[in-house]
Amino acid sequence: MTGRFANIIVDISHEKVDRPFQYRIPEALEGQLEVGMAVMIPFGLGNKRIKGYVMEITDRAEYDEHKLKAVDSIVKDGVSAQSDSMKLAGWIRENYGSTMIAALKTVLPVKRKLKQVVRKTIVCKVDTDTAAASAEEFAKKHQNAKARLMHELARQPALPHTLVTGKLNVTAQTIQALEKAGFIEVQAEGAYRKVLPENIAAINNWQKKQLSEHQRAIVDSIMQDFKADVRRTYLIHGVTGSGKTEVYMELIEQMMDEGRQAIMLIPEIALTYQTLVRFYRRFGDRVSVMNSRLSAGERSDQYERAARGDIDIMIGPRSALFTPFERLGLVIIDEEHESSYKSESMPKYHAREVAGELCRMKNASLVLGSATPSIESYYRAKMGSIKLFTLKERLAGGQLPQVYVEDLRSELKSGNRSIFSRRLYGLINDRLKKGEQTILFLNRRGYAGFVSCRACGHVMKCPHCDVSLSEHTDRYRNMSRLVCHYCGFSMQGVTNCPQCGSKYILGFRAGTQQIEELLHREFPSARVLRMDADTTKSKDSYEQILSQFANEEADILVGTQMIVKGHDFAKVTLVGILAADMSLHAGDYRAGERTFQLLTQAAGRAGRSTLPGEVVIQTYQPEHYAVVHAANQDYEHFFAEEIAYRDLMMYPPVAHMMAVLVLSDDEKAGAVQAQALAARVKQQFDDKRLVMIGPTEACIGKINDVYRYIFYIKHREYQILTAVKDALEQTIHAMQWNTDSVQFDFDPMNTY
Ligand code: ADP
Ligand code: ZN
Ligand code: ZN
Repeated sequence: MTGRFANIIVDISHEKVDRPFQYRIPEALEGQLEVGMAVMIPFGLGNKRIKGYVMEITDRAEYDEHKLKAVDSIVKDGVSAQSDSMKLAGWIRENYGSTMIAALKTVLPVKRKLKQVVRKTIVCKVDTDTAAASAEEFAKKHQNAKARLMHELARQPALPHTLVTGKLNVTAQTIQALEKAGFIEVQAEGAYRKVLPENIAAINNWQKKQLSEHQRAIVDSIMQDFKADVRRTYLIHGVTGSGKTEVYMELIEQMMDEGRQAIMLIPEIALTYQTLVRFYRRFGDRVSVMNSRLSAGERSDQYERAARGDIDIMIGPRSALFTPFERLGLVIIDEEHESSYKSESMPKYHAREVAGELCRMKNASLVLGSATPSIESYYRAKMGSIKLFTLKERLAGGQLPQVYVEDLRSELKSGNRSIFSRRLYGLINDRLKKGEQTILFLNRRGYAGFVSCRACGHVMKCPHCDVSLSEHTDRYRNMSRLVCHYCGFSMQGVTNCPQCGSKYILGFRAGTQQIEELLHREFPSARVLRMDADTTKSKDSYEQILSQFANEEADILVGTQMIVKGHDFAKVTLVGILAADMSLHAGDYRAGERTFQLLTQAAGRAGRSTLPGEVVIQTYQPEHYAVVHAANQDYEHFFAEEIAYRDLMMYPPVAHMMAVLVLSDDEKAGAVQAQALAARVKQQFDDKRLVMIGPTEACIGKINDVYRYIFYIKHREYQILTAVKDALEQTIHAMQWNTDSVQFDFDPMNTY
């Protein structure tokens, strides 16, 4: 790329410098700079050397060219952004509100190139029987080192080089000789760090599945569009086990035949060894994976391999979306309803939407898949902008479980104050006798201290927002207040239920630990495993607990939402959902959706094999539509009721919502700032259809001594919200506030 000047964005996240600065390209760097490259530049009065990214190279000087400073150098190990990534960063900045540098860092998940390492593997080139036979031959000839190695390879067809020369004590000459004779091959793991699990190369007993008629129809339809140059978004709605992954793989393969590459997003928690093996079997070295467990070096290598076109498929969580594929043709988002696809730090982008933009830029197709599609995607499918496919049957056998909904109110009436309903208690006992396994699921997601009546199920709600009020305890005065997370409405805590007068109205508190203790007391012979944030702190503990349970080292697994994902346990025939209500009252508009998803998924854990399964859903609100439809595995009816509620209350996706979070070290200043921003909106947007909630103190009013204020804006048109955001950014700029002090969140997943 030629040109004498470079417009560079500096690596400082601040509103004041959130624009490109122009530099002269010195002779020494002529012809070497490229858009996206990381460079060092002198900046500010002291001409301190800082990092920046080249946004544009041009022949046009915007200022007196003699006054322009010169680019200092190219960052040697810098990862350069491709021009598409630059464009995507610009789009993210525009749509979610952040500085350009923050957006740029989002699309560059790898910060710098790291030196590659060489890792050698010794792979057996003959089949197991031949390897064993030759080991004996060598032994007879007293060629003991060769015998040792071949013997080991007969048991395990790929061994790390270090193990062979170390523990097995085989010399380099011996290895060479065996390689020459065709017994083995030494594979230098591309000078790249290996990221697929050890031994995965040895897995080769694989046969391509014949797609069912329904699966075939989906693949054909998408590929026909693709070949006719039609690009769309598709949604595959299919229960777990209905064959979505097979469809994804077939699509990827056909895209590769078209010379295109694919990105597949999977929530990290569902990215299991089994999934990787399936992809690796089919695509071998053309596939790679990104996840948070990779070291910086491993990540850097995968990024490089993708940029060089050495791989065609990238699998990973949210950030894998930014894999720099030149020939991207397909993006798949599995479990598209998962909230982990939304970034929780600035810019708060949603991978589904960014994927849409990326596909537009790259002329690629976007495929979403889920057993419980997000209300957003299903709504778009209903409106016709997404093409919907449905897969109804489980392919690998296993029937849908029998579901019981147990009313905890009537349990109380009949004197049962235990966490376990009588039915659940009886069924746990039954499983212990039969030697089958039970999963107990405590729904704590979005747990927000809602207050409900144990006698009649009445929940204290905000009169303005139709979401549950949260209990905040005032320790000094020993009394509680009930607060709305959206609008700040608050009232004194109640001592009697306003509906039935019962005094059993309280905040719901129970933890997995209490349940574990209770199980030990009630079922002393049962072996219990617990999985929650506490027991999975150390590395691998998550997988460890799951594999212990899979090996039937325990009768009961108690856990939070972590346990409902992915894994199939053949012996699990009972799933108990202890308090389905918890997530119903998270105090935000997605509570119903989240509950439906969790209950449906949890129920799906029972009876995955030939043994029939049973599910007990315990709740104070058996008549709630999320509970009723989850029990029937009836997505359609759930959707119909949920969308009516969203429409009535002007919540997404029917309307849109933007959260504006103001952060300040100073309690007063923060409040004033939030007020000022809200006032600006009211003054500039005289629009009856614009609804503002707040400003108010955020639900968690202070974190790390930073005070938090929040307001929400709702409007049916998304563009109005981005316009409001732009106006607020201007205000922030004009007032010279720190950019980091205000955060925007479009169609938020959580409350603040
Ligand atoms: P999902 O991704 O919807 O959970 P999968 O693609 O993992 O479903 O399929 C579930 C099970 O059914 C897997 O064991 C898979 O190997 C098997 N399966 C999928 N499609 C077929 C098919 N066409 N023929 C036979 N088995 C299939
Ligand atoms: Zn009551
Ligand atoms: Zn409210």
